[in-house]
Amino acid sequence: MGDKKREKIPRQEMPEQDHLERTKNFNEVPYGYTPELARLEAARCLQCKKPKCIDGCPVDIDIPAFISLICQNKPAEAAQKIKEKNILPAICGRVCPQEDQCEALCVLDIKDKSVAIGNLERFVADYERDADLVAVPKIEAHRNKKVAVVGSGPAGLTVAADLTLRGYDVTIFEALHETGGVLVYGIPEFRLPKSIVSFEIEYLKKLGCKIVVNSIIGKLYSVDELFEDFDAVFLGLGAGLPRFMRIEGENLLNVYSANEYLTRINLMKAYKHPEYDTPLPKGKKVAVIGGGNVAMDSARCALRSGADEVTIVYRRSRKELPARIEEVRHAEEEGVRFKLLTAPLRYLGNEKNWVTGMECIQMELGEPDESGRRRPIPLEGSNFEYECDLVVVAIGTGPNPIIFQTSPDIKRNTRGYIEINPETMESSKKLVYAGGDIVTGSATVIQAMGAGRTAATAIHEAFTL
Ligand code: FAD
Ligand code: SF4
Repeated sequence: MGDKKREKIPRQEMPEQDHLERTKNFNEVPYGYTPELARLEAARCLQCKKPKCIDGCPVDIDIPAFISLICQNKPAEAAQKIKEKNILPAICGRVCPQEDQCEALCVLDIKDKSVAIGNLERFVADYERDADLVAVPKIEAHRNKKVAVVGSGPAGLTVAADLTLRGYDVTIFEALHETGGVLVYGIPEFRLPKSIVSFEIEYLKKLGCKIVVNSIIGKLYSVDELFEDFDAVFLGLGAGLPRFMRIEGENLLNVYSANEYLTRINLMKAYKHPEYDTPLPKGKKVAVIGGGNVAMDSARCALRSGADEVTIVYRRSRKELPARIEEVRHAEEEGVRFKLLTAPLRYLGNEKNWVTGMECIQMELGEPDESGRRRPIPLEGSNFEYECDLVVVAIGTGPNPIIFQTSPDIKRNTRGYIEINPETMESSKKLVYAGGDIVTGSATVIQAMGAGRTAATAIHEAFTL
């Protein structure tokens, strides 16, 4: 195809479930590209000599190479190309914030819309799986070294896959009864179907990795006890401890952390009601506090669980919303309301201790703070009351302290996250590595995977160099 013709192709949007229909179910919202749409979108790529998009990818996927294979009608080979760098393409294609990473640096973004790299990644991964073409790659000779991975989120899964492929004997210990971390207990079915996550995990098991669920390290075994059986330990514990604002009324009935709310819906399968009878907090007028992906997921789940009205209450303006653009768009289309520049001061309750509303205050934006975003400042005298019967607090999470109670020698920073050498991800304790949210605080799937990859390389080097 000539350059002129290529330039005229618009970015191909993904077909989606109708916005009125989808609030009545938990089915996935985007349907994915057809092969025709994928080839058309792939044809937009200029195959740059110095591809900027790769600089935006935390795991260095050869983006133009996989896109070129789609143009050549070789989607299975394209999937293999991605898997050289990323073991979870079907997941990343769905949830990575490409608009801030590879797509933000794509040269087409300057004049037009960037190539839809994430949509193409999802297409090839789905194609490979649906056509039953996923093959187990060659595994290096057994090395007689055992590695324990604590936590089965994207960081742990990546370390486990990389080391298993290099011939290590790897066991993942997971506290919950299901594997996948936030991918299964946090991100809802309509964004990331559980079947996609379990397929990727089955693939890991096929490689030979062992997974032991229902095992809280720090309670069942300490890290030191793990060393009786293993030669190195990786901690991919995530940051799953809910945070509250410590304001009056947080103990009222129907004030929930987003963690508990989403865990009930996802991990404990309330989304499959009545097949599962997990009790789910219900509200007709729901307020979700926060503006990130977790807040959008909670709001969209509340709509699907029978709420009449769901409102995101966020203390900054729309520009600062940390959620993915796609999530905000989907939430708005579905009818989620936004009360911006607003913060709760206290929750109000009735005589039976059920939440009935909250006292809020209006905010204005001042100078940027250490996060680079403009600091919200309360507008004196702007207090008002807001009625609601369910509150979901999604203002961030912190590190869970359990493991450190029996391993106080693992050095942590003032916020409780593990301190590591960024070159190797090794902690202050020899041969104990860490990565993902337990090091950075809440971040992204692909950043956790990037950390896992660095740690796997360092563990391998520690035993071979
Ligand atoms: P996690 O995924 O948190 O996994 C940690 C695992 O360790 C958990 O399974 C936990 O049970 C286990 N564990 C903890 N302590 C122990 C212990 N002592 N013993 C054994 N096991 C233990 N990122 C994106 O890129 N895109 C998105 O759209 C997106 N949406 C999100 C939506 C929600 C609701 C949430 C909560 C997060 C979202 N994120 C998103 C962030 C992303 O999911 C995380 O950054 C990522 O999962 C971090 O990976 P991790 O491996 O470090 O930890
Ligand atoms: Fe293709 Fe954009 Fe990457 Fe260039 S920067 S190779 S156009 S995806």
